[in-house]
Amino acid sequence: MKDRVDSLLSSFMEQVTARHEGESEYLQAVQEVAQDVLTIEKASHAYTRARVLERLSEAERVISFSVIWEDDAGEVQINRGWRVQQSSLLGPYKGGLRWVPDLSPSVVKFLAFEQAFKNALTGLPLGAGKGGADFDPSGRSAAEIARFATAFMTALARHIGPETDVPAGDIGVGEQELGLMTRVWMQHSGRWGGVLTGKPVALGGSALRAEATGYGLIYFSAAMVQAAGDTLEGKRVAVSGRGNVSRHAARKAIVQGARVVTMSGRDGLWSAPDGFTHDALDWLLVAEGDAAYSPPKALGLRFEEGASPWASDCDIALPCATQNEIGLDDARALTDNGCRFLAEGANMPVTRDAAEHLSAAGVVQAPGKAANAGGVAVSGLEMQQNAGFTRWSAGRVDECLREIMCDIHDRLTSERQSCCTQGGGTDYRRAANVAGYRRLAEAMIAAGPTG
Ligand code: GLU
Repeated sequence: MKDRVDSLLSSFMEQVTARHEGESEYLQAVQEVAQDVLTIEKASHAYTRARVLERLSEAERVISFSVIWEDDAGEVQINRGWRVQQSSLLGPYKGGLRWVPDLSPSVVKFLAFEQAFKNALTGLPLGAGKGGADFDPSGRSAAEIARFATAFMTALARHIGPETDVPAGDIGVGEQELGLMTRVWMQHSGRWGGVLTGKPVALGGSALRAEATGYGLIYFSAAMVQAAGDTLEGKRVAVSGRGNVSRHAARKAIVQGARVVTMSGRDGLWSAPDGFTHDALDWLLVAEGDAAYSPPKALGLRFEEGASPWASDCDIALPCATQNEIGLDDARALTDNGCRFLAEGANMPVTRDAAEHLSAAGVVQAPGKAANAGGVAVSGLEMQQNAGFTRWSAGRVDECLREIMCDIHDRLTSERQSCCTQGGGTDYRRAANVAGYRRLAEAMIAAGPTG
């Protein structure tokens, strides 16, 4: 069986590599899915004939554009922007915009590919896309960010719309930028419309969109820990990052009785052996510059320059920063320090060899496709509210979010019967790939052989 999978995988990856030479993140993401679903494809005549995975591995459209803007010194700046419209099988292209200096076509393509499976798992009518620019907002003035956002949306506007492609935020793109870009799109199109999600509530954004990814991550983690016969109560949780996903995940984890023992930034680690209190979290989220390195004693926090969260004692690891942030050495440190569960708040934060080590050591792992789907799920609810010219209460959105995350969990555990077991429990990584694939494949078949 293993030999058969290896030979299917290597001939499949040969074709994909020929088309995407050198795009390492993209190839990593495709291979992770391919190794789990190729035998399912081969077992179905209809899927094989439709060449489902090969088609899913090729974006419907890749748009690249230049973003020309002026900095505060009056210098002309040139950045590169992209929008990958991955799949419109299940609904309008849907996925975030990321502004980071090292964004590349490979990274945008891997994110768009992952998004297709994640969005499929939500059960909502969402296609998949991803975009962004190689722009670094850190250190830029508010006026520079506004000029960049205007130039970026001016270039992108013609390619998106409420029924065609609905971007959202991601790293470097938050509510404020989405508000600015919503205005630019409206001016450009002459229409009101929910063309971006994650926009400010005052412009038609949804309650709880900002919190959704972090809250959803904890709802999923709670279900996963419960399936293993335990609860979050008293568990030591190591969180990486201190951005949007991390902060809301940490908040919800504390509310659920867990002990959040770390948060991190580019510069180092904040640890709290007794657990972050709400006050400590509030302080860290607004602390800026050098002040962040000297937490007030009373908060029970310690700052260590350059340290990583994965060397801490913990029961649950929540990588919420960026791709490949947990390598093999980090994974070894986690298992040495007692980690039993890991749920991905970021997209593909664990390298392949690290994931293999964790699974051999019996760590139950929830992939980002499932565990961080809460963000895009509430984006889907924002689209429903915009399309219906209505607004839901935070309570209603939270209830829907919890239900969607529990449904995703159930969908994955039900794959256990067919293929996805690990030490008597669910192999969530494999189950997420298989369940997402099945939904996309069914849509492809329903649309006819070339639909
Ligand atoms: N960027 C988020 C993600 O990775 C949210 C996408 C969205 O809301 O469209 O899923």
